[in-house]
Amino acid sequence: MTTNRSNANPPAQEAGGPHKLSGSHSTAHGPGARTPALATVEPPHSPVNGDFQQHLSSNSHPSDSESEPAPPPAIQRASAYSVAQEQLARVAKVMHLDDDMREYLTMPRRELIVHFPVVMDDNTIRIFTGFRVHHNTALGPTKGGIRYHPDVTLDESRALAMWMTWKCALMDLPYGGAKGGVIVDPKRLSERELQAMTRRYTTEISLFIGPEMDIPAPDVGTDAKVMAWIMDTFSMHRGYSVPAVTTGKPLAIGGSAGREYATGLGITYVTRAMLRRRLGLHLEDTSVAIQGFGNVGGWTARAMHERGAKVVAVSDEKGAVYDSRGLDPRHLRRYADETGTVAGYPHADSLTNGELLELNVDVLIPAALEGQITKENADRIQARVVAEGANGPTTPEADRILEDKGVLIIPDILCNAGGVVVSYFEWVQDLQAFSWDESEIRHQMKRKLLDSLDNVLAITLQTDSDLRTAAYTIAIQRIVDAVKCRGIYP
Ligand code: NAD
Repeated sequence: MTTNRSNANPPAQEAGGPHKLSGSHSTAHGPGARTPALATVEPPHSPVNGDFQQHLSSNSHPSDSESEPAPPPAIQRASAYSVAQEQLARVAKVMHLDDDMREYLTMPRRELIVHFPVVMDDNTIRIFTGFRVHHNTALGPTKGGIRYHPDVTLDESRALAMWMTWKCALMDLPYGGAKGGVIVDPKRLSERELQAMTRRYTTEISLFIGPEMDIPAPDVGTDAKVMAWIMDTFSMHRGYSVPAVTTGKPLAIGGSAGREYATGLGITYVTRAMLRRRLGLHLEDTSVAIQGFGNVGGWTARAMHERGAKVVAVSDEKGAVYDSRGLDPRHLRRYADETGTVAGYPHADSLTNGELLELNVDVLIPAALEGQITKENADRIQARVVAEGANGPTTPEADRILEDKGVLIIPDILCNAGGVVVSYFEWVQDLQAFSWDESEIRHQMKRKLLDSLDNVLAITLQTDSDLRTAAYTIAIQRIVDAVKCRGIYP
């Protein structure tokens, strides 16, 4: 596997090294301050004639000190934004979308790059770099996660924002797509540093977020606690509480029942329905392998297991574990919480992440990062179904290889949309200051997901297309209709 990004960039390569507080404040911002890799900070472009140009981002973050040995060259990976553009270009062709509209949908509406200082526990200051991208606002305010990861780039935020636009439109939510993040390994920060970094990042992007403008949510490396700090920081600036500025918050401050497990449960509902309707299979008779054991992977494992599927393998960035008789996700969760990883779980065999992806299982669920199934490993995938828990885990080249092999791909914008659906419910509850009970949330989420699945299946029959193309067609058509109604300002 060539795209294990945690190996590609060791955590020590975070943006900017420590700067002594004893120096003047300008030391941190002046020429001595190291700027993070900006190789990918380029104006967005659309693919020429729909061709897929594989842009490779170097992501070579500077080392902390000149005396330290240079870090090993980063593994090059395909640009996620190029993948997103390629997917749009393919569907635009199928839909006979005119070039102006395609160009308009390709471009993010706004992008913000922020470099900001944080006082670390040892009294040094460190410069961090963060992003926030709004892709499209035709249907309403933008919605999308905030990611804390050493490999976050503007390119990645653009792609993830675009995918959020399609996902929200497919679910018929009144949102456009956004995404953002900070180049950081949150596991290497103390709790106080993480909070200070989050509050300063929130302040830096505060002109971009708000209940009517852009509503962040958790993504890789962030959770309910981080959402609470963002909500509190934004509220302090306003002088009153603004719970609807984030979703995925703790229940105590306006979070929604069911939000924490919504993505994993939604993946289970969608996969179960798709197995039955497209392959005549029952979830209870299937074996499942899941890459990633964070919010999405962990809750998917549990929801699948509780509904009778045999979860034979799971992984995280440190390794994978396998038991052909099936793993107990609750037991594994306790082990991972104690040790920080699933690797080394004593009741199972060890595997690499690459081996997990290639297991002979009925359902493979990539639930970690984008770009995991590529032309390098697609022909070794043995699963009958790939249910995309992560955003953008399959490249367009891999899509074609899997399709030729007859693998059914349940696209991310349908498969993992349970999270944004319940985030929408959370936002509505916060705006109305009226909370719904958990059974209502589950019922409404299931209905939204299964209605969308029905719509996607109907389009596949009408147009003889694959599930991704059908899902994109519905989403893009909804945005095109909205743009046509609104007109182009001024
Ligand atoms: P998370 O930070 O909670 O978990 C990520 C998991 O992936 C961790 O277990 C981590 O160890 C593992 N991981 C990282 N690199 C890996 C690698 N190379 N190989 C194997 N495992 C690796 O993040 P999350 O919220 O679970 O998000 C996972 C994916 O799902 C992302 O693509 C995210 O955009 C997408 N997603 C998240 C939500 C949500 O509600 N959180 C909703 C929809 C989609």
